[in-house]
Amino acid sequence: MPVANRSARRRTCIGCRERASKTDLLRVVLSESVVIPDFHQRHHGRGAYLHRERGCLDSALQRQAFGRALRASGPVSFVQVEQAIPGNSSTTNLGSQSGDEMSTQ
Ligand SMILES: [Zn+2]
Repeated sequence: MPVANRSARRRTCIGCRERASKTDLLRVVLSESVVIPDFHQRHHGRGAYLHRERGCLDSALQRQAFGRALRASGPVSFVQVEQAIPGNSSTTNLGSQSGDEMSTQ
């Protein structure tokens, strides 16, 4: 496959604020006070972009970037986005605080 997309659209991750290709980011949209992942880029309206990484999600949540990026007028729910982004379980052990590990070797 020829790589001719030097001008591929780049978006800013609302978590780490780094620019990345759209394909590397998860688009999220606001739907009735619920932030939902737009996996297929099908939803219209204002969207925000985020790496599929827990760290970026946490950063975005901490600075309330979702609400600002999506122009939310009130509190919004992030449950679906959190479900779409793997938690600590599947990421490498960056500062893992093994609180509920059932089995170790
Ligand atoms: Zn990021």
